Amino acid sequence: MRVFNFAAGPAALPLAVLEQARDEMTDWRGSGMSVMEVSHRSKAFIAVAQQAEADLRELLDIPAHYKVLFLQGGATAQFAAIPMNLAPPDARVDYLNTGAWSAKAISEAARYCQVNVAADARDSHYTSVPPVSDWKLSQAAAYVHYTPNETIGGVEFGFVPEVSAPLVADMSSTILSRPIDVSRFGLIYAGAQKNIGPAGLCVAIVRDDLLGKARRGTPGVWDYQAVAAAGSMLNTPPTFAWYLAGLVFKWLRAQGGLAAVGERNRAKAELLYTTIDQSGFYRNPVDPAYRSWMNVPFMLAAPALDQTFLTEANAAGLRNLEGHRSVGGMRASLYNATPIDAVRALSAFMLDFMRRYG
Ligand code: PMP
Repeated sequence: MRVFNFAAGPAALPLAVLEQARDEMTDWRGSGMSVMEVSHRSKAFIAVAQQAEADLRELLDIPAHYKVLFLQGGATAQFAAIPMNLAPPDARVDYLNTGAWSAKAISEAARYCQVNVAADARDSHYTSVPPVSDWKLSQAAAYVHYTPNETIGGVEFGFVPEVSAPLVADMSSTILSRPIDVSRFGLIYAGAQKNIGPAGLCVAIVRDDLLGKARRGTPGVWDYQAVAAAGSMLNTPPTFAWYLAGLVFKWLRAQGGLAAVGERNRAKAELLYTTIDQSGFYRNPVDPAYRSWMNVPFMLAAPALDQTFLTEANAAGLRNLEGHRSVGGMRASLYNATPIDAVRALSAFMLDFMRRYG
């Protein structure tokens, strides 16, 4: 039996994708082998890899002057790879701090260059985005980094910042959740384990003029230019994760592409926030203008009921609702593979729980 899985990542994958992978597991397209058992340099696998890239380009409408890189080391490796590739050692770089993941990106970048925290949401306890008029951007930053969606805090930018330096975005928990204008960005990166596929893969989309600037000492596997020149096969890539991401991209196209997917995600989020706001029992602390469509944290009126809520939710097939250990409470992640029926079931459960305990 499949449950409704609200995990923040690794997260739910589309059932149709898992079933296709299962059906192809031992005899992949008549080869008599699993896709995991063939060379990454074989014609058959290269076709899979190229098709995945083509489908991702189609979904996000990625312009031709951007490279798509399939990397390892998660988004965390990119926290270091970004300054190594885009900023000389004496460079100044701007970061917007809107929560836990921005903070991690900042502390890693600070090991490689001078970081200016141009805006800090500390005063709002990381429940909002500081007004643009308060941002203190540098004159000549090598780039501006931000986290469009904070997975833990549930804070999401509803806009793309207007900056003159190349804009770098950690889209780990929002990529593919709706259409975006890639041309506004210098670099987009995302760990795969939410809206792309299995953990072990990290996708980067980088504008051509930002390639070839890696500082001395950058490991070869993290040098964007070298990786791009090798078609992301400088060494053995995570072939199964890449194949599965390709199946997810095909599934997204069959769903009608990102405009359709985005509308569904908006409806899912609206349903859950409405349930929370109208309850008088549940509470979401985030400024309504910056509420995430993908990660919805919420508190119960009485934290003493948290454990009962989780136990009963589990029994009802609603899984992985516990909030991040750093903030407590609950969190429902509503990535692409989570259907609206899951949100309806959660919403009904929440109302019933409130009637019984509120
Ligand atoms: N950035 C964001 C926004 C995330 O949500 C996460 C993981 N939850 C990371 C970075 C770190 O990703 P990884 O574990 O792939 O290194």
